[in-house]
Amino acid sequence: MLKLLDDFPGANIGPGQVDGNRVRLRLRRDPVTRADGARHDYNYHFVFGLQNQGPAPCRAQVGIEAEGPQGLSQRPLLYAAATLEEEFAPANVGARYDGGRAYWLELDLAAGQSLYLANTYFQPPARLAARLAELAAAGGARAEAYGHSLQGRDLVAYHYPAAQGPEQACVFITSGFHPPEPDTLASQAVMQWLASPQASEARQRLSFCLAPMVNPDGFFLGTQGHNAAGVNFYWEFRPERAERIPEAAALWALAQRLQPALYFDFHAYTFQGAAKAAGPYLKPQWHYRGLAVRTLAADMERRLLEFTGGACMRGASPLALTTLQSRLTRRFNTVTFAKYHLHLGQGLEACREHGRQVVAAAALAMLDADLTRTADILAAPYGRQPRDPLRSLAGWSQALWEGPSKGFLRPLLGR
Ligand SMILES: [Zn+2]
Repeated sequence: MLKLLDDFPGANIGPGQVDGNRVRLRLRRDPVTRADGARHDYNYHFVFGLQNQGPAPCRAQVGIEAEGPQGLSQRPLLYAAATLEEEFAPANVGARYDGGRAYWLELDLAAGQSLYLANTYFQPPARLAARLAELAAAGGARAEAYGHSLQGRDLVAYHYPAAQGPEQACVFITSGFHPPEPDTLASQAVMQWLASPQASEARQRLSFCLAPMVNPDGFFLGTQGHNAAGVNFYWEFRPERAERIPEAAALWALAQRLQPALYFDFHAYTFQGAAKAAGPYLKPQWHYRGLAVRTLAADMERRLLEFTGGACMRGASPLALTTLQSRLTRRFNTVTFAKYHLHLGQGLEACREHGRQVVAAAALAMLDADLTRTADILAAPYGRQPRDPLRSLAGWSQALWEGPSKGFLRPLLGR
């Protein structure tokens, strides 16, 4: 007799039915977000447990959005743990999926045995929050509750002030908009770096602020990417709607105090496999004011692309007006890499290393350019126009095609 374990903090699975050793499950379906003319569907992730409550071993057959293994040709990346106190590790279970939502799993469970399974790297939210607090303390950071979530949880930021004083520019880093994505690996690695001697020059001349779990309710409720009111506030970053998205209102208030010169927002590809590559979303440099800042942005871009082997995302998504990064650049001339995607398929250690390296590289670009004061970035005058207007025109056309036209034009054209 199998029992579905889905009542722990962070559990993420839709309705299910257990029949002997056969388990039929649906994925949790959160509302699909429409913003900037595009659809953003995050309903692909699961974390749940199974327990064999019978007196004998059994082979559990689990169909998630699937009635059998037929037509499921790919091997998914799954993580598992015997208890929630244990670290989740790559799972050795027979599994197939279709590259999307349909999974078929077969696993042997001894009498009394439990197994927790996820198609992403799962950390119980309370443990993750405690780890972040430890890392911050080790780096001498000041913790601040910059607001409260819709369900009343603390929104926590960690401040690492610049040794040279409050005039120095701020590097702002967020993660955790979409709880199933293990992008907090990057924040944790950056916090480790900040606590190390390798970061000492950066910490002299730059301040850092990390908000690693900007959507804590989502982590505890096990949403696919929303807050408690069903808002995916990466795409719908509307601080004026504080009654539904207090997380966005508080984050924007924090950002306005920081006036960051550089902003990273980490995300992670999970189930997407080889179809996606880790890298930054990039926007054209003419979004930035002043030749010095444009040159800095170009230099950072070059350093990041060296690291990713050229992988990046251009087009409409990096330009989406309803996102925090767009607001930051318009208001404070902030150079943004948002989103910056890790890829879970590369492994946990590679994700950590990636996050640490790219933040260190971008910070080093600021030191090398000697643009390390908030005033340098904010006061940048409008510089000359981009050198290549044709390329800009092509960029805008592509952006329009990828973005606003997606919602209504493409269906008409049968695309
Ligand atoms: Zn994301």
